[in-house]
Amino acid sequence: MAGADIREEEALWLATQPDKEALYDAAHDITRVRASREFDMCSIINAKSGRCPENCKWCAQSAHYQTKADVYDLVDKEECLRQALYNERQDVARFSLVTSGRKPTSKQLEQICETTRHMRRHSSIHLCASLGLLDEAGLQALHEAGITRYHCNLETAPSYFSTLCTTHTQAEKIATLEAARRAGMEICSGGIIGMGETLEQRIEFAFTLNQLGTQSIPINLLSPIPGTPLEHQTPLTEEEVLTTIALFRFINPTAYLRFAGGRSQLSQAAVKRALYIGINSAIVGDLLTTLGSKVSDDKALIEEAGYDFCGSAFDREHLWHPYTSTTHPLPVYKVKRAQGATLTLDDPQAPQGERTLVEGMSSWWCAVHGYNHPVLNRAAEEQLHSMSHVMFGGLTHNPAIRLGELLLPLVPPSMQKIFYADSGSVAVEVALKMAVQYWYAKSLSAPDASALAHKNNFVTIRSGYHGDTWNAMSVCDPVTGMHSLFGPALPVRHFVPQPRSRFDGEWNPDDILPLEQTIRQHYHELAALILEPIVQGAGGMWFYHPQYLREAAKLCREYGLLLIFDEIATGFGRTGKLFAWEHAGVEPDIMCIGKALTGGYMTLSAVLASNEVADSISNHTPGCFMHGPTFMGNPLACAVACASVRLLTSPEYDWQGKVKRIERQLRDELAPARHFPQVADVRVLGAIGVIEVKQPVDMAWMQRRFVEEGIWVRPFGRLVYLMPPFIITSEQLTRLTTGLLKIVKEM
Ligand SMILES: *Cc1c(COP(=O)(O)O)cnc(C)c1O
Repeated sequence: MAGADIREEEALWLATQPDKEALYDAAHDITRVRASREFDMCSIINAKSGRCPENCKWCAQSAHYQTKADVYDLVDKEECLRQALYNERQDVARFSLVTSGRKPTSKQLEQICETTRHMRRHSSIHLCASLGLLDEAGLQALHEAGITRYHCNLETAPSYFSTLCTTHTQAEKIATLEAARRAGMEICSGGIIGMGETLEQRIEFAFTLNQLGTQSIPINLLSPIPGTPLEHQTPLTEEEVLTTIALFRFINPTAYLRFAGGRSQLSQAAVKRALYIGINSAIVGDLLTTLGSKVSDDKALIEEAGYDFCGSAFDREHLWHPYTSTTHPLPVYKVKRAQGATLTLDDPQAPQGERTLVEGMSSWWCAVHGYNHPVLNRAAEEQLHSMSHVMFGGLTHNPAIRLGELLLPLVPPSMQKIFYADSGSVAVEVALKMAVQYWYAKSLSAPDASALAHKNNFVTIRSGYHGDTWNAMSVCDPVTGMHSLFGPALPVRHFVPQPRSRFDGEWNPDDILPLEQTIRQHYHELAALILEPIVQGAGGMWFYHPQYLREAAKLCREYGLLLIFDEIATGFGRTGKLFAWEHAGVEPDIMCIGKALTGGYMTLSAVLASNEVADSISNHTPGCFMHGPTFMGNPLACAVACASVRLLTSPEYDWQGKVKRIERQLRDELAPARHFPQVADVRVLGAIGVIEVKQPVDMAWMQRRFVEEGIWVRPFGRLVYLMPPFIITSEQLTRLTTGLLKIVKEM
């Protein structure tokens, strides 16, 4: 179950054991642990029917046999769209265009591509196609039109196929599927059981599909069609069908096993059994020429079997998630509510229809007090009754004033001015603009004005992360910062290597040399040095030596650069100090804060600046700082931020004690991971615990395993890390660390 591959003789042994229930239970366990719990429904349209030149013995559409199948030409695009939209409304995830015949003519293919584009323009259901033995150019055209998965059944075991069909070979089918994959599509391939093949051949068939690597396997039960050579074929018993499904699950542990045609032959009890054993997907609605079932009936049955239509089809089809594909989206989990250090997910499989996870991420550094906090709730509710928002141009209000009064004593004393902004990235944009405008202002009055006129670029350290907007991107690490593809479009900044001296290790004086060299060489064009003090967050989760900041500050003063600290992630106690600059005692000229500012309730950030920066900007043309977002100083966000900062800094809250306790526990409980062969490094600072692994993680797999362990942890790249809410209990934290270690060990 942990991934050991089964062999053919073992499969045969399993299939011939008398205790079928034990086989079904074992297959069920594999399904539960390794296959998707999210049930995948697809639907098809028979877009062209009948008159097929091929002689497949089971098929109603073969022109070789006298059957009653409909005969019609390509269905028009409006009808295809109508059906796609109908299915989309029913939460069906995929919709497939299926045509009869060996393959479409190039004219028909063009029409199908046009139909695909039409459907894609007005619907977001994921599109599949099953059009026969296409070549790679045709498949490429389909993919570009919007088809993401290509279907072609192998139908049966290689040793049996030629008995059933002589007009084409299985090798041609495999070539088509491989070409589809090269064209960028997923593949879907299964077949029909009960066509006279032996048990051994069904096993052979399952192994062939495994070798093909298909993750979607339609399983049809033969519907003997009058007029075809198989019309008198004896159907399989229900036990044979269920045993086959169990074997397919053993042999293809992670694939979608898809109920397709012929399942109306089974009793309701057998259908339920099949869902239990391993069927986790189905073609719903009308099935080609044999009548399928109605979507809503199918859905009821599937939900009863404990499967999940997780996230919802609407989400998958229309909502863009952070750094996620819309054509091959990773699973998302639907949160019903959040309380304290827990998230509660919708989960039909769980006893009460929900599953509660311990929160290890604080929703990306923000929710330091946990969720649904009565104090923050009250602040928001009260503020709503006076005003939710007013413009900040020409108006002011108490929430903005109070928040400033609360913040200034907490930040470096040099920080005297506050500019409220909407998000972390915008704060970084504002900080960079301030630095440029500062040197512009300076150049207007300096005796050597021309010397200052070019100070409009930035230097930063590698592995940084400063946000996703344009200029924020430009100072992110060009490789790990997730924006490398924008490279040519971004302003070119100066990057120096990240400091290698560890936070808790020895200071290596060589660490500062690259920065010194770059600044010495380029100071006349540099407005500022921007960095995340002490803790680099999303660019690498790295903790470096405080001496680096002292040396960097000295260089900035010496060569005339502003120093910008991005404390968006590190702020509000996360690193064991209220702000990370305190580790080094270095005061910047400009500082960005965000994330935990509102305790994770709303989006709000702030840029703090020295009087020197503010005065220089204000005393020169144009006489004001050139920025002013619509939602600047949003009263609702400021009111919640006030409540959050007051709560954090109140003596009873004892944030320092909380963070210390978390730090100690993270150190103790993550330490064993140092000895895992998968692990490269373990580091802890404040309420941040990082396990760096040697290979990039499989995010979808790991995320799912964490959810099954009852914890919410979102890894990225080679980093698996915790930054829990400060109010987490030590029992909850132990659940996080034990779950984390367990899953890392499984890698
Ligand atoms: C998250 C983050 C940002 C960007 O903040 P957003 O609110 O996501 O725009 C900038 N800098 C650092 C250090 C961050 O961690």
